Amino acid sequence: MTDDLLLDVQDLRVEFPTLRGTIHALQGVTFGLHRCETLGLAGETGCGKSVTALAILRLVSHPGRISRGKILFEGRDLLAVSEAEMRDLRGSQISMILQEPKMSLNPVIRVGAQVAETLLVHDKTLSRRAAAERAVEMLATLGIPDPRRVARRYPHELSGGMAQRVMIAMMLVTRPKLLIADEPTSALDVTIQAQILELMKALKREIRTALLLITHDLGVMAETCDRVAVMYAGSVVEQGPVRTVLKRPQHPYTQGLLKTIPNDVAPDQPLFSIRGQVPSLLQPSIGCAFAPRCERAMPECAAKVPPQYGLEADHHVACFLHAPGA
Ligand code: SF4
Repeated sequence: MTDDLLLDVQDLRVEFPTLRGTIHALQGVTFGLHRCETLGLAGETGCGKSVTALAILRLVSHPGRISRGKILFEGRDLLAVSEAEMRDLRGSQISMILQEPKMSLNPVIRVGAQVAETLLVHDKTLSRRAAAERAVEMLATLGIPDPRRVARRYPHELSGGMAQRVMIAMMLVTRPKLLIADEPTSALDVTIQAQILELMKALKREIRTALLLITHDLGVMAETCDRVAVMYAGSVVEQGPVRTVLKRPQHPYTQGLLKTIPNDVAPDQPLFSIRGQVPSLLQPSIGCAFAPRCERAMPECAAKVPPQYGLEADHHVACFLHAPGA
């Protein structure tokens, strides 16, 4: 592990037993995140982005389970630490912002008290008054006008954008080393979305937090991320610097995903879509999971899972087209 590698996820597998069989939600997810870096996790709904985030926090809900892999945070395997240690890490070292802030905030507690509570849980030496004061300061940092008055409000009294700012304040007030944001702006309108993303970028620089940003919006990714990892059917199929991946995608799935953006499509032209459907996850993949939809599939693609091949600097692709000598 290099010194500045904060999070190192290796061969992570998550399963959910159901009445119809076991869903193999993650099938060997591997990626790294450096200190202060923003990594975007991209892919269609159901590809495993949110499950990956929950697994990092060890919050995969029962009866789901992490069946294999390693999650190294500053070199420490999160899958090997006790639940008490994990509780300490959550909120203080690793925080998570969810898609719908009003669902995550407690409806019967004033928002200032909720931000202060995050501090009190992780710092037993802090007085209630000092925590309340720091909560107001944090709300002010988030650009909330009249933060003292807003701190006394309940979540239902806030707009969606304001509630998301409160949520971000709550997650950043402990200055975590890693912030996971799962579609943090998808419930907001475009103007507020841009404001929140700008704010997150500025705060991230100030607090020196690494950000794992989950989004299906490739525009948001291009604006916000340093590197990107593209997921398909529970695996990372391509990862690398955001400009390289978005400008010169090498995996057929990433290439298809980028073509679905309706940039220069004439009004009378049909929009592009990737043919076929995402595979059922009831069976673990024995070959490349994208093979049934891939126009460049070869016989070997159905026989074994492609490993990640390294291309130019820090660019990796799980596709046999990039095997040495292919
Ligand atoms: Fe297509 Fe084969 Fe590459 Fe999979 S491994 S993306 S099927 S060419």
